[in-house]
Amino acid sequence: MGKADLHSHSTCSDGVLKPAELVEAARRARLSVLSITDHDSVDAYRDLPSTGPGLELVVGVEISVFHDGGEIHVLGYFVDPACPELASLLARMSRARQERAARILDRLAAAGIELPPERRAPLLANPHVGRPHIARALVEAGAVASRREAFRRFLVPGAPGYERRSDLPSGHEALKIIATAGGVGVWAHPGTDCMIDSGPLTELERSGLRGLEAFHPSHTRGEMESLALFARRRGLIVTGGSDFHGDGREGAKVGDCAVDAAVVKRLEVHRGRMPS
Ligand code: AMP
Ligand code: ZN
Ligand code: FE
Ligand code: FE
Repeated sequence: MGKADLHSHSTCSDGVLKPAELVEAARRARLSVLSITDHDSVDAYRDLPSTGPGLELVVGVEISVFHDGGEIHVLGYFVDPACPELASLLARMSRARQERAARILDRLAAAGIELPPERRAPLLANPHVGRPHIARALVEAGAVASRREAFRRFLVPGAPGYERRSDLPSGHEALKIIATAGGVGVWAHPGTDCMIDSGPLTELERSGLRGLEAFHPSHTRGEMESLALFARRRGLIVTGGSDFHGDGREGAKVGDCAVDAAVVKRLEVHRGRMPS
């Protein structure tokens, strides 16, 4: 049985590789299944050439939601990219991203960091713009030495360029739309708090959540094993993926934290099921 990497990002959000290049990387890593799960976008699935034999591409999306007083990420698998309810949610989130980017650039200008128009324009026109794109632009403009410095000095809460995200859907709304689009929802990189206080998880389960991404590079080996055990005991499907963003030099590689491809079949059973 092959391996499935169920979490990755392309240039249709803040990843470095184009969707077709990401597919190629998955092929080189000898994966059986890849899901491209861009932040709040299914644009990667627009003009993707067929993946060819041996590699299955599962349509996915990683939606930022507001839940239990903070932002968490919900993965939606097997969604229909053409579903009007999903398209409308993602369009709304894209507008909110662009408006937020404009506010961040204004704040940076007020703090004395004025990006030249030729760097501002592409940021403001990017439907997927987020802080990582602004951090890259600050590096390219020579305002900071690294993306890390860009975040630390300007883009984290309390820093002069920080703007919180607005207009995020609730976990309930996102899960309902994922089901409407024929998909199945999974809590991305939940961390271990959900094992200590399972209230927020129970609420998501009531809204239709079916899985927990136990295997993720942000969890330690021990945390992954505890989360997997915890999820199985609750009857949740255990998923995993690399959350690959880059070219392999920074962060995870394609195929890290991949799970058995049988997991995909388990998820598929729950496609489009509304919470009971
Ligand atoms: P946004 O959705 O625009 O708020 O950007 C969130 C993304 O920025 C996350 O998914 C991370 O990839 C990245 N990020 C957040 N905090 C940092 C940080 N301190 N250093 C580098 N990248 C970060
Ligand atoms: Zn990202
Ligand atoms: Fe995430
Ligand atoms: Fe991600």
